[in-house]
Amino acid sequence: MYSYWEKKYWFGQTDFTIVGSGIVGLLTAIYLKQKHPKASIKILEREAVPKGASTKNAGFACFGTIGELLDDMTTMDEQEVANTLALRYKGLELLRSTVSDNKLGFKLSGGYEVFSDLKRYEQCAEAISKMNRMVYSVLGLSHTFQSQSCALPNTYSQMICNQYEGELNPVYLVLALREQARALGVNIYSGFVVEGWEKAGSKIGISLQHCELQLKTKTLVLATNAFTNKLLAQLDVIPKRNQVLVSQPLGRRLDGTYHYDKGYVYFRNIDNRVLIGGARNIDPITESTSTYGSNDKIVQHLTEFAQRHIASDFEVQYQWSGIIATGSSKSPIVKEQSENVFVAARLGGMGVAIGAQVAKQVVDLIG
Ligand SMILES: Cc1cc2nc3c(=O)[nH]c(=O)nc-3n(C[C@H](O)[C@H](O)[C@H](O)COP(=O)(O)OP(=O)(O)OC[C@H]3O[C@@H](n4cnc5c(N)ncnc54)[C@H](O)[C@@H]3O)c2cc1C
Repeated sequence: MYSYWEKKYWFGQTDFTIVGSGIVGLLTAIYLKQKHPKASIKILEREAVPKGASTKNAGFACFGTIGELLDDMTTMDEQEVANTLALRYKGLELLRSTVSDNKLGFKLSGGYEVFSDLKRYEQCAEAISKMNRMVYSVLGLSHTFQSQSCALPNTYSQMICNQYEGELNPVYLVLALREQARALGVNIYSGFVVEGWEKAGSKIGISLQHCELQLKTKTLVLATNAFTNKLLAQLDVIPKRNQVLVSQPLGRRLDGTYHYDKGYVYFRNIDNRVLIGGARNIDPITESTSTYGSNDKIVQHLTEFAQRHIASDFEVQYQWSGIIATGSSKSPIVKEQSENVFVAARLGGMGVAIGAQVAKQVVDLIG
């Protein structure tokens, strides 16, 4: 039996209820509160702390390598590729205007695309001028991509640098957003697993796991990314798992963020260790899952890659997986699913970059 207090304050009606306390859920709450200071806002998170992609990612503040952009152009038209790139860059700008660089642990360290051989390098190097024109046309940035020498072992001697890319600390980001949301008066409830909702008069009644009471809200926002298809099976959201490894301390650092093989493999420095992740393209069927877990084939591939191309003494000291949301398009889903029920999801491997823009878009859509 719930007490009077619990019924009134836990389950009492709220203006806006957001499901998911990852980057998008937290930023949506912050932008809603800034727009509607008097509104009551709850975030419902199923875990004790957010357990999606937002604190499991690599922390690349990136907006596209030439290899990735050329690959995108095989399935998307050039304007769509340019728009996605602009969304990523503007998303990072918006994020950095919402949270200070210091609180994000942000460094403009540069992004580098490395290659195994001359042929792969040339395919991308030939597109440098074209891609620089494209970036200039949508963002006004000059000389974004430049070729420079690469000192990594067993790689081609040249790599392509994107001088406007950087890195941040994903947990710093989420902590800063939680602090900001709470300071604005947003209530973040943990351990509230949303199972569904229904229209209840002019409100929406939200059903929770192991709870006979419904939460009432005027507007519901699903910021559940890769897990959205458990709540809305018909939505074009396909969960994909990503493996991440971190080495022992190596006593030397690798400056910048690195991409290889169209962005499928990525690596960077953290605390003088190497973080390396990705390679889900070598076992795409096994990795098409929303269940966390290891993949020996990918772990071995990433370990061998790191030993050959980054540090021969690389050993795995930390390992985890995270779940991203993909679909038939690389664009995020921001829409009103049904009356007063909104979705802001499917951020692919770009949510650090586009999360703020996606949150802003859903807040604009809500009105
Ligand atoms: C390994 C990895 C590396 C990545 N690297 C980068 C990178 O370097 N740069 C970049 O830009 N992007 C990167 N990404 C992508 C980025 O992390 C995501 O796009 C972004 O975090 C998505 O944020 P989100 O808030 O939409 O979703 P999430 O962070 O997944 O949050 C969704 C939240 O909803 C909660 N939830 C789900 N269902 C329910 C329910 N029924 N009831 C209540 N709560 C629920 C979950 O517990 C979770 O906390 C990476 C992702 C992974 C997995």
